[in-house]
Order: sequence, then C-alpha cells, then structure tokens
Amino acid sequence: MKIAVLTSGGDAPGMNAGVRAVVRSGNLYGHEVYGIKDGYMGLVEDNMILLTHQSVSGMLTKGGTFLGTSRLPEFKELSVRKNAVKNLKDRGIDALIVIGGDGTYRGGMELAKMGLKIIGVPGTIDNDIPGTDFTIGFNTAVETIVDAIDKLRDTSSSHQRVSIIEVMGRSSGDLAVYAGICGGAEFIITPENPMNKEDMIDKIKKYKNEGRRHAIVVITEKILDVHQLAEEITEKSGFSSRATVLGYIQRGGAPSPDDRILASRMGTYAVELLNDDIYGVCVGIRDSRMVHLPFANIIGQKRPKNELYSLVKKVS
Ligand code: ADP
Repeated sequence: MKIAVLTSGGDAPGMNAGVRAVVRSGNLYGHEVYGIKDGYMGLVEDNMILLTHQSVSGMLTKGGTFLGTSRLPEFKELSVRKNAVKNLKDRGIDALIVIGGDGTYRGGMELAKMGLKIIGVPGTIDNDIPGTDFTIGFNTAVETIVDAIDKLRDTSSSHQRVSIIEVMGRSSGDLAVYAGICGGAEFIITPENPMNKEDMIDKIKKYKNEGRRHAIVVITEKILDVHQLAEEITEKSGFSSRATVLGYIQRGGAPSPDDRILASRMGTYAVELLNDDIYGVCVGIRDSRMVHLPFANIIGQKRPKNELYSLVKKVS
C-alpha cells in the first residue's frame, strides 16, 4: 500500500513520534509512507514527501511536528477537498492517516465520505476527543503545567499570594483537573466543574484567617477573565492575587515517556488496521488497550466525565 500521514490543527508533543511509528511500522509491513506537509494545506497543494526509516530518525523525542500543521478553513468546501482527493489518487496513495483534534477528525470524515481510506489518530493536548481515554500530547502538557504550578507556589507562598493559573483545554477541563490535582491546587475550575465566585472568595478569606500563606487556583481557558478575577480577590479577600496565563508554552517541549509510548502504539495500530482493511475509524486507548471507533461515533459526541473529577473536592 501507499499510505500518507499528516498532522493538523493544534500541534501536540508526540505527533512526531506518531508519524515515526506510522513510517517504521508501515515500512516493516512493506508499505510506502508519504508525509504531507502542513496538514490539509499540503494535501490541497500536493506538498508531500516520501518518508523513510532515515527521515524519521531522531523524531521520537522532538516536540512540535516536523511535518508542520496549519488551519485551513477552506477545507470545509467540497471543491477544495476534491482537489485534495485528486492529488492523492494521482499519486496512487490508498490511505491517509490524520493526526489531530476534533477539527482534523471532521475533515477526515468528509474525506472518508469521498471514498478515501482514512484513519484518525487523536493528537491534541486538550484530551477532548471522545472514544479514547487519552490523546497524544496531553500527558506532556500536564507535566508542563505541573512544573509551572510548582514554581508559582514557591513565589506565591513567599509573598502570601493567591496564584491563578489559566490553562488550555477548550471545552475540556482535563488539563486543569489532572494538573491541578498534581499541583495541589486549592481550587480547580473547569467547564465541567464550575464554581461560584463569591463562595470561592469566602473560602479564600477563611484561609487567610486560618493563617494560610497562599492558595492556588487552576482554571480552564475561556471561562472568565483571570486578571479581573485576581483584582477581585485582591480587593475582597485580604490576599493579594496574580493571574498567569500559561498559553502556548503548554504545547511545547519533548514528549513525555507516556506520550512517546502512546504515539508509538497508536501510529502502529493505525497501520495494522489498514493491513486488515479497516478504515473510516479513529484510534483510541481504553483501559490501556488499543481500540477503534467509526468517525461518526466520535464526532459531536460528548466525552464521559473523567472519574478524577470526583477526586477534586476530596483532596483540594
Ligand atoms: P484541531 O484538529 O486541533 O481541532 P482545527 O479545529 O483547527 O484543529 O481543525 C484542523 C483543520 O481541520 C481545520 O483548519 C480545517 O482545515 C479542517 N476542518 C475542521 N473542520 C472541518 C469540517 N467540518 N470539514 C472539513 N474540514 C474541517
């Protein structure tokens, strides 16, 4: 077979390890593997290269995505996708593995409807894809956030401050919950676990009266203005407060060992599904096992609330 692979949407540590696994296992099974540059853009522009064992050497440990990624809103248009399908067909490429998040999956499903053999691999730090317990990049991002929380605690404790840390996650609070628990946050605010601001400020006042020297608040992006919240806490609680928006730093860095393993397993599994003539599906990990589900069962579905959410109130 000729198999193409691309990375698309938000980059995530471990995407390279996933591409490497597709190339190495693909070659092992006798397939040719092509890397498409810059996500769906390279597909439309016919910008792809043959990847060999050697071309992915050293990629296991590298953050970002060496193939590049992009956002291409025009890919929602049928005429643009037709061009992409033609480019693959002209090269005799039989199948395409897309590594990315929800939007990438939507693009993949549209291509599957047009007759291409597509496999989706979940690559996003947000851990917001249904059908998998974990996505590639999530574990590394949690490590990055925990490192930041640990550092912010040192300084907030010295200055007797409430530190507010805004993390990514879009509509998923998993980054905030995992990192918040690991970092011993007093408050973890997520779309799934909203918090009454007045209650929180009352609790912070109580902490001050008890003689505590600091508190950590971890909050998912886009819930409220964290700098305004810091001002309000400073005005009302007796603690001074500062907000830190971690931003794109959460996307960077070498993938953690867990993400290297996850990406290696998922990339290999995607190729093995194609070997078995299975496509139109997305790869996932459930209870430590590789699984796959059709695109239609994943796109637009809700992820079940992670059981760690119930731990938040008990340990914070
Ligand atoms: P992510 O994959 O990280 O969620 P995006 O939401 O930006 O990132 O999606 C990546 C790309 O997938 C988009 O830039 C676009 O090219 C493509 N895409 C997203 N939604 C659709 C759709 N409904 N139909 C076709 N392509 C889509």
